[in-house]
Amino acid sequence: MTNRAAKRFRARIMHSLSPEKVEDIRDGVLEVDDSGRIVSFGWADPMSNAQVQEFPSRLIIPGLVDVHSHIPQLDARGKHGSTLLAWLDRYILPAEMAFAEPRVVDDVAVRFFKKLILNGTTTAGLYSTVHAEATNRCFEIAQAAGVRCFIGKVMMDRNAPAGLLETTADSLGQSEALCAKWHGAGNGRLRYAFTPRFAPTCSFELLKDAAELARSAGAYLQSHIAETLDENDRVKELFPGHRDYVSLFEDAGCLGPRTILAHAIHLSDDEYRRLAASDTKIAHCPTSNFFLKSGRMSVRRVEGAGCAYGFGTDVGAGTSMSIFTEMRHADYAQDEHSIPPAKALWLATMGGAAVMSMDSEIGNFAPGKFADFCVLDISGIDPVYRLDALDTDELLSLLMYRGDSQMIESTYVAGERLDVDAISRAFS
Ligand SMILES: [Zn+2]
Repeated sequence: MTNRAAKRFRARIMHSLSPEKVEDIRDGVLEVDDSGRIVSFGWADPMSNAQVQEFPSRLIIPGLVDVHSHIPQLDARGKHGSTLLAWLDRYILPAEMAFAEPRVVDDVAVRFFKKLILNGTTTAGLYSTVHAEATNRCFEIAQAAGVRCFIGKVMMDRNAPAGLLETTADSLGQSEALCAKWHGAGNGRLRYAFTPRFAPTCSFELLKDAAELARSAGAYLQSHIAETLDENDRVKELFPGHRDYVSLFEDAGCLGPRTILAHAIHLSDDEYRRLAASDTKIAHCPTSNFFLKSGRMSVRRVEGAGCAYGFGTDVGAGTSMSIFTEMRHADYAQDEHSIPPAKALWLATMGGAAVMSMDSEIGNFAPGKFADFCVLDISGIDPVYRLDALDTDELLSLLMYRGDSQMIESTYVAGERLDVDAISRAFS
């Protein structure tokens, strides 16, 4: 025991040491210092008289990481669309146009961040809309919510409807100003991601200059790639002269360790290898891929090429805000390959943290990392389970296949409990 600890949390505590190895301490204590960093994690000392916050019959796991979602699409969930491009036109672009109105932004973004917290998600990679004001407001709400995230103003300088179309110069200038204001704000919890929506709505110049700005600011770059075969055909038409889809991003200078590309379903093995070689990350969004019948990302091929990936809910094509849902859907989506529960937990925590280049700060309970975690109560599940009656494998399996927001009792970032009511009070 060290006297640097300002807070101690006692419960059954479980976290990932590797994709194969979970450490599960049935009577564990997490010690956290004043700055919210973990001092130590281990077995509780029954002889200690130090003050401890007790969570009897509760499980603590690291905060969940959602590497890809869209704030303005919260209420577009579950609206059936025939294809990605038709669904975008009918539901998504109108939902995004509504973000020109500040009242709509406040309403939707406050509910979005509350739901993140209620689902145990402590870190997220997020898209706003093309609107600079709306994006600024999303950052303000994220700051009040206390979560860790990067957010980006969507960039679209062609093939977008009036109201969402911007000039290349405005898109770059507004994104640069938002990055200057927010990248590293909120004690480092908030970061900026340059966000060219996807290649069909961007000029080559926009992709190239966005990548350059991201690199010079040490910020992120996020986009979508190869979600559907229609999109791949469209990109071939719009960008002749590039060897393949990945080479378009390569030629624009968009690849690198702080680039996160969502979906990456319809790519060749050579393209996966080039993503891996540049340390570009993939946001795997299986629920969204099922919903839009986009196809399935082959985990076997992605892992074979050495690509890092994490889970994204991709709201609104994703219908759930729970990373537990992505854990099971990632497994269901593979026909020739199974994702074991221990690995699914790793992907939902450490894997996601690595995708967001935050694995030295969060993802498990190694000393020195921030104490981002959620407290789970599994007693509401039918049939009623007793936490102490489940071994590690049974518990992991229960989280993966039956986990949902009802299990999440409370969510902490840097040792502080996040209060969803405070967000409503601040922005109503
Ligand atoms: Zn998306």
